[in-house]
Amino acid sequence: MVITRTKIKHKIGLSIPLIIGLVITLYSSQWYWLNKGVNNIAQQSEKQINELVLFIDQQLAQFEIIPEVIATNPILQEGLLAQKNPKKMAEINAYLSELQKVTESSDIYLTDALGIAIAASNWDQPSSFVNQDYSYRPYFIAARSGRSGRYYAVGVSSDKRGFYFSNPVYHNGQVLGVIVVKVDIGVIEQQSTGIAIAGQYEFMISDPDDIVFLSSINHWRFNSLTPLSQSKRFALNNAKRYANRPISELSIHPDYKVNSATDLNTYKITSSKGSETFLEKKQLMPNANWTLHILAPMSPLYKSLPAIMLLAASLYLLIVLFILYTIERRKNLLRMHHAQNQLEQRVKARTLELEQANTQLKDTQDELIQAAKLTVIGSLSASINHELNQPLAALRSYAQNTQTFLGRNMFDDAKNNLKIMIELTDRLADIIAQFKSFTRKSQGKDNAIEIQQAIEQALTIVQPEIDKQGVQLSKSLPTGKCQIWGDTVRLQQVLVNIISNAIVAMQQSSQRHLTISVNKISDSNTLIISIQDTGPGVRESQMSKIFEPYFTTNERQGLGLGLSISQRIIESMQGQITVENSDKGGAIFRLSLPIYLHEGN
Ligand code: ADP
Repeated sequence: MVITRTKIKHKIGLSIPLIIGLVITLYSSQWYWLNKGVNNIAQQSEKQINELVLFIDQQLAQFEIIPEVIATNPILQEGLLAQKNPKKMAEINAYLSELQKVTESSDIYLTDALGIAIAASNWDQPSSFVNQDYSYRPYFIAARSGRSGRYYAVGVSSDKRGFYFSNPVYHNGQVLGVIVVKVDIGVIEQQSTGIAIAGQYEFMISDPDDIVFLSSINHWRFNSLTPLSQSKRFALNNAKRYANRPISELSIHPDYKVNSATDLNTYKITSSKGSETFLEKKQLMPNANWTLHILAPMSPLYKSLPAIMLLAASLYLLIVLFILYTIERRKNLLRMHHAQNQLEQRVKARTLELEQANTQLKDTQDELIQAAKLTVIGSLSASINHELNQPLAALRSYAQNTQTFLGRNMFDDAKNNLKIMIELTDRLADIIAQFKSFTRKSQGKDNAIEIQQAIEQALTIVQPEIDKQGVQLSKSLPTGKCQIWGDTVRLQQVLVNIISNAIVAMQQSSQRHLTISVNKISDSNTLIISIQDTGPGVRESQMSKIFEPYFTTNERQGLGLGLSISQRIIESMQGQITVENSDKGGAIFRLSLPIYLHEGN
């Protein structure tokens, strides 16, 4: 329960920063993408607006010079001076009509000083300008006062959007009339729309009253960018710039900023066809006093946003996963490292314990071996006793004799006796030294063992018992150097043990024959020591048991440890101990040991 709660708390604790991180990633990727996109659009719009301004200016400039040139033609002055002359008027009409065709302008017409058209290129059309009053048109007013005029308006009779260029016609320094060239702005609009479509943007041109009169989108035309107040409507009606065309307000959100500090703004424009958001870039065209607006649609940028955000979220999740994986991996490594350290510590502690146990075991083993050895010695004690008592008794009788010899002044005999006594003491010292060496604890040091010497030393220990039991001993030992590697005292113990067992086994036998032979098997570099007796042999049922600890048939004297310890000792010397019964009766114990190889062996 506690673990589950902690886990849940941990998960919640982790999820909150992850979610915050995701939100920040999404927000910043959106901000970055939009910012970058807007910058790109702005850069592009800058280029496009310059191109379009240049194009429109060039288109208008072609016509600007025309009225100035025509105004100098004397035919116009003549016509203005003789307005009642139909011939003259027909001549001017024909001239203007010809000019209109050549210049590809919409209309060309001549007004008198009062603004009444007296001749026009469309004189013969139903929508003829002749006799129309243009005195209210700003381009007439400008030219009448001696300046060249430029004006945009919807033609009253033609109902076409046109750009008007006007120039005064002088006579003797007086303005006689005004010549006007009207350019159909629809053509320029069409061409500009083509450019806008190619550039994937929309455009519109607004006049100083913020009325859109030219646009790549039809329903934007004749709409005001700013709210239309009553007074503004009134002024527009008066100027008749847009003839009878109704002017509405463009549905634009937020409100159009006429004098915005930046020339870049985002607007949502709504029409019957729906709403769309645009990035607006505008530029004033000083010659015409128009404002050109480039409107780049934001929808492609907005449409690309989900994909970008998805990409950013995926990247974020990937990075988070990578970080979590790295943290988890580091944790695992630390955990593993910790576990490894702990294991190492435990292994060290356990090894130490084992080493201690091993030392203890070895000590115990040594004690046990020693105990077994002493048991053998114990069993041999009677014969050893005898072996020691004999020279002691001899010593005593020699000492008594010597006393007698000295009493009779037989110094030479006494001297002789003393010599024998010294020899006897030496023999006693020898016997004791052998037993001392046998009974001493092994130092546990291995060295090269001369096998003949080891057998002889072991025999010294058991010799008194051999003699006591009247055992006949046969030896067949190699003559040359023959060495094995091991612990001398231990090997001696094994040999004494096996020989003593053999002597015990032969106690009930009429024939007591002990044969010790050593054979070298050069092929396998093995030395085989065979100890054969003429006892009853080992019972088949006990064959496998005799090497087990505490197995004995000698309840009175045996511990049952001799053979099991002997087996361990021989195995520790990389050897083997086996037993079999001889055909003639009696047991044969075989010790096979690796020959110690070195130079000269
Ligand atoms: P112990 O001498 O104390 O009995 P050992 O381990 O030396 O213990 O011997 C175990 C037993 O193996 C002896 O009790 C005896 O029954 C049997 N044994 C050993 N050597 C001989 C042998 N030469 N002939 C017959 N039996 C033997």
